[in-house]
Amino acid sequence: MKLAKLGDGPEIFHTIQGEGVSAGSPAVFIRASRCNLHCVWCDTDHTWNFEGTPWPHEKDALPGYVKHCKADVTCEITPAGAARRALSFGCPRFVITGGEPLLQEKELLEMIRLIRGEMPGCFIEVETNATRMPSADFADAVDQFNVSPKLSNSGMPESLRLVGEVLYFFAGSPKAWFKFAVSTPADLAEVLDLRGRCAIPHARILLMPEGRTTDELDRGAPQLAELCREHGFRFCDRLHVRLWGDRRGV
Ligand code: SF4
Repeated sequence: MKLAKLGDGPEIFHTIQGEGVSAGSPAVFIRASRCNLHCVWCDTDHTWNFEGTPWPHEKDALPGYVKHCKADVTCEITPAGAARRALSFGCPRFVITGGEPLLQEKELLEMIRLIRGEMPGCFIEVETNATRMPSADFADAVDQFNVSPKLSNSGMPESLRLVGEVLYFFAGSPKAWFKFAVSTPADLAEVLDLRGRCAIPHARILLMPEGRTTDELDRGAPQLAELCREHGFRFCDRLHVRLWGDRRGV
């Protein structure tokens, strides 16, 4: 399967879950390469923003910026190899992220089963953009889905970023928590609209400030906290940004 590359190996690392309902928990992150969306502000664009691809990204405006060489940022590994590496940290929480992990569901399911075989009490989270329906086997094998539907600020057309059938599935799953990065009243209006259209349980929605630096988070957090108080949403910080900025593999 294709994971993102970190140094000479796969992007599998031991860290602290920075977002969502498990924020603060030590966890092993396993980062899948490839995504079916191409959000303009994606902070893991090394999983899809390859040389020769036509998708715009906000980094395009940086002087001298060049897209990623696919071979330099992709690591081919077997599910058994990935499981071995992930287990080597001895941590019982695993977060499968991306990119979009559900593009490689079959291989990841094999990896999850191998991990569970060695560590039966472990907890497996999967982060998804909610555009791909998980199989029943995959949904059974996962303990928690961290669902991040993309808003119009992603630059993606609605026809690609919102798949009603999948959103309904996650809205009805007790394993799913929804998180949205909100920086404007228009973002909040989209969240409220989506909640209504897809019957997403209010108590399972977390709102996060937008930002890739502590300063940016601090600028957006007070206003977002007010919105959370007013609308009864859970506020969620982005601990990894505060702790490590945009450094990878920590
Ligand atoms: S869905 Fe996630 S990984 Fe894919 S482009 Fe958007 S932000 Fe990046």
